[in-house]
Amino acid sequence: MPKRDYYEVLGIDRNATEGKIKEAFRKLAFKYHPDRNREVGTEERFKEINEAYEVLSNPEKRATYDRFGHDGSQGFFGQGFEGFNFGGFGDIFDAFFGGGTTTATRRAPERGADLHRSIAITLEEAAFGVEKEINILRTEHCSLCQGIGSRPDSQPSRCPNCNGSGQVRRVQQSIFGRFTNITTCPQCHGEGRIITDPCPQCRGTGKEKRQRSILVKIPAGVEDSSRIRLSGEGDAGTRGGPPGNLYLSLSIKEHEFFTRDNDNILYELPINFAQAALGTEVEVPTLHGNIKLKIPAASQTGEAFRLKNKGIPHLHGRGQGDQLVKLRVITPESLTKRQRQLFEELAEELGPTKKMR
Ligand SMILES: [Zn+2]
Ligand SMILES: [Zn+2]
Repeated sequence: MPKRDYYEVLGIDRNATEGKIKEAFRKLAFKYHPDRNREVGTEERFKEINEAYEVLSNPEKRATYDRFGHDGSQGFFGQGFEGFNFGGFGDIFDAFFGGGTTTATRRAPERGADLHRSIAITLEEAAFGVEKEINILRTEHCSLCQGIGSRPDSQPSRCPNCNGSGQVRRVQQSIFGRFTNITTCPQCHGEGRIITDPCPQCRGTGKEKRQRSILVKIPAGVEDSSRIRLSGEGDAGTRGGPPGNLYLSLSIKEHEFFTRDNDNILYELPINFAQAALGTEVEVPTLHGNIKLKIPAASQTGEAFRLKNKGIPHLHGRGQGDQLVKLRVITPESLTKRQRQLFEELAEELGPTKKMR
């Protein structure tokens, strides 16, 4: 792939001032920093931006580049920039605030908080999978200042109290001798930098709350109480730290007449006294639609029939569970005059119940 023009990379004119170059770099570096931007190709873009800045911010290198283009830069500046390391924001801040020599122990990047939501789905949705929209309120980087906290046309300044280190040393005299106390700088709270001209949108915090709706694919065969992790969909990180995750706790709503047993479905089929004695054919509901089932004569409560592959698809691997149909013979709770008469006749015909062993 041919190398892109450095000015084009930074999106600036050929006669851009040093200030403009710096400003362009700063905006792009924040936008494409791999810690913050997880899109594909970001790392390459970030390297490209750094390389362009390295050359254009140096008047001698820039002059050579202007005369000879990339050929000059290859011969002149050597082996490219492969060794660039993504040490977090420190590098960039040092370049701008003159950190450099102090190996400051500024506050480390922090991962954003995880978010937790619970979601209830139906048994049918659990069986066949479903896409759900989840609405969350989360903390994101401020869209106006890209999370820096300063008004977009200004920059944070180095904290004068701690000289950018984020720490202050205080020597104390006591009856036991001298103590050196190292504490977090009270002026910048350990950040090493101070927002002098805060961003009007986030008032300097670099963060904002955003309402987001996230589409979640719930796979077929999920179980009750399972947890789904959506990587990077939690709160934004701090100081270049990665975002947290969004965790969804699934619960499956109780079904009107199906009970789940692993990937099998249990179903109790009520039949009447006559159907049980004489046998019948009935329609049985399943997750996959109604099915005709033959009940043989002389069936008893508790007898079960297995409907192969009419259960829940296995979450891992092929195939699906079965549906088990259990009979329950219902004794009528009220009888019409005619029914009573027939039962009485039947009772006489059957005689007293034989004693069971
Ligand atoms: Zn400070
Ligand atoms: Zn802001």
